[in-house]
Amino acid sequence: MTFSNTLEYARQVDEQDSLKHFRDKFYIPMVNGKESIYFTGNSLGLQAKTTQDYVLNELEDWANYGVEGHFHARNPWVSYHEIFPEILGTIVGALPEEIVVMNQLTVNLHLLMTSFYRPTSKRFKIICEAKAFPSDQYAFQSQVKLHGLNPDDAIIEVQPKEGSSYIKLSDIIDTIKKHGEETALVIFGGVNYYSGQVFDMQAICKAAHEVGAYCGFDLAHAAGNVNLELHDWNVDFACWCSYKYLNSGPGGVAGAFIHQRHISDSSLPRLAGWWGHDKDTRFKMDKEFHPIPTAEGWQLSNAPVLSMSAHKASLDIFAEAGMHNLVAKGKMLSGYLLFILNEINKNSSEKLIEIITPLNETERGCQVSILMLKDGKKVFDELIKHGVIADWREPNVIRIAPVPLYNSFEDLFNFGKIMQESLLG
Ligand SMILES: *Cc1c(COP(=O)(O)O)cnc(C)c1O
Repeated sequence: MTFSNTLEYARQVDEQDSLKHFRDKFYIPMVNGKESIYFTGNSLGLQAKTTQDYVLNELEDWANYGVEGHFHARNPWVSYHEIFPEILGTIVGALPEEIVVMNQLTVNLHLLMTSFYRPTSKRFKIICEAKAFPSDQYAFQSQVKLHGLNPDDAIIEVQPKEGSSYIKLSDIIDTIKKHGEETALVIFGGVNYYSGQVFDMQAICKAAHEVGAYCGFDLAHAAGNVNLELHDWNVDFACWCSYKYLNSGPGGVAGAFIHQRHISDSSLPRLAGWWGHDKDTRFKMDKEFHPIPTAEGWQLSNAPVLSMSAHKASLDIFAEAGMHNLVAKGKMLSGYLLFILNEINKNSSEKLIEIITPLNETERGCQVSILMLKDGKKVFDELIKHGVIADWREPNVIRIAPVPLYNSFEDLFNFGKIMQESLLG
């Protein structure tokens, strides 16, 4: 791919983009009376224009039917969550029975760790990435303490090599081998939220299984962004949120995956609730818990339909666009962004910016994280002034996520121009 840093080029690529009409399906926030350049789809994805109708439908059905809506709504609420596994299966690479939409991400992480982190005196360690998202770190620590163990002994973080900003696969594998039979669980983000590094989930999972450990992934930054084949990779469990790349609204309902080989294992310990109980006998309200023999068996509560309706609005768009097309465009967008950033360095006598996301295409999705070597905060403020909505991370990192559903190559060209002008004057 030969890129070119001109407006004509960017517009030409947009023109040839088979996904270009999807941008019109979203509300782009306005800044100073103009459409912003929105690069924070990795933090809160934009609202689809259809979302309001989907939510309104449920509000209307609630008004019209009251409790009868559980059975008589256009999408009966009692089974509303059953809509999702089919579509999500194409996004995360899983069988429908391996997926359930429920709760929030950190809640699901805890529920799944309850089943899959069961330390013994010999096998008790959790291997994870250094700089995991804080909520995940707190979840790991509190799970360890819940079992009466000390996080300092039990949590092993794999660090990037000195001078590098991301973690080498061989260091992950070596760490897993080194801790071997003491390893209870290997758990990574599919994509690290800070560096944007995509981990080789298949290789990590294989290494975990070779030492007899379980392997799980937090896919908050991966779901809807990169190619996932959870079933084929033999991943034991995974969870994700729906409000980042999946555009399902602030605090939207989350998702979970449990591999087929575990879903009907009723001996797996779990925190149970009535919505995970066998559907045929759920309303008999019996004392004994019989889990549904699918991922649904991990459900606790009846489903948050309003939030799910926003999720459905978004996933219907994903189904139309096709995950493979989105992954391909996402990589092309981040590739073009890397090219533009490199041009800025080339136009300066000193190095102004450093990319901390892997350059290698298999190790990145849409997101590119930029370490600002000079005037970081000043440049960021300048970006805001010019209508660029991006993400600032202390001490000096700007994260840019051009999203294939609604960002364009022209967005990236314009961003590059603003960045260059604020750095080089
Ligand atoms: C965004 C994100 C979260 C947020 O957790 P919630 O429970 O949805 O608030 C957790 N973990 C990771 C890796 C994230 O990227």
